[in-house]
Amino acid sequence: MIKLNDVTVRFGDTIALQPTSLAFHRGQFTVLLGASGAGKSTLLRCLNLMQMPGAGSIEVEGLGPLRSGAALRAHRRNTGMVFQQHQLIARRTALQNVITGRVGHYTSLRSLFPLPHRDQEIALHCLERVGLLHKALARIDQLSGGQQQRVGIARALAQQPRLMLADEPVASLDPATADKVLALLQRVCKEDGISAVVSLHQVELAKRYADRVIGLAHGRVVFDVAPDALTAER
Ligand code: ADP
Ligand code: ADP
Repeated sequence: MIKLNDVTVRFGDTIALQPTSLAFHRGQFTVLLGASGAGKSTLLRCLNLMQMPGAGSIEVEGLGPLRSGAALRAHRRNTGMVFQQHQLIARRTALQNVITGRVGHYTSLRSLFPLPHRDQEIALHCLERVGLLHKALARIDQLSGGQQQRVGIARALAQQPRLMLADEPVASLDPATADKVLALLQRVCKEDGISAVVSLHQVELAKRYADRVIGLAHGRVVFDVAPDALTAER
């Protein structure tokens, strides 16, 4: 559903991404594995064109090459993002944060007006799916790290995306919580048929949850395999 054709990214003398061609398929849960600096974030940022490639092109099924502003906006609307530091608004409730996935930034001005019912219902349903309906009215800074990241997943889901991009979504969590949060992310993507590209540095988690594992090193794809082909040294 999304194709990179010879995409290259440089920052001055650093080549963050060597000419890379990859196709990501509908409904697949793909993990990017690699050491820090390998180019994982750069590749993820290319996938929603937060990073414009220095060379090459990106094509999205149904939208063609992402050149026009309209195609780019449509692709971004269809793309949910989950971050390592979740980027939630700490002093607002879980529900308010999830609603931003539907209506953009939840400003204090907006809180003066009733939100459309449908947006509220979808946001509540997304919180329910991540097991946090009972925390809908709790402020983000009152939640545990695992709960915060589950709200981050709910916010991305509220956008009803076709593609989910997650940059080290479990890197700040302890191993047991990381496993649970990644399992949740994989399950909701599968349930909704959302394609996902998720960067990780834990081989074990990739083995357990990925359909496909792409290894990156020094801005290059060094392997592209099914998870059961992953060996301990990778
Ligand atoms: P990873 O996500 O695997 O840690 P990155 O994609 O963040 O890797 O980085 C790949 C390379 O690009 C690294 O050498 C990094 O220092 C460099 N890089 C990334 N972003 C920038 C930037 N905004 N300016 C300069 N260099 C950058
Ligand atoms: P944590 O702080 O470890 O992220 P919580 O303390 O919020 O998790 O968990 C509260 C309850 O919610 C527990 O009984 C847990 O099993 C349950 N729970 C956690 N995740 C989910 C989920 N995705 N769906 C349903 N219930 C969940």
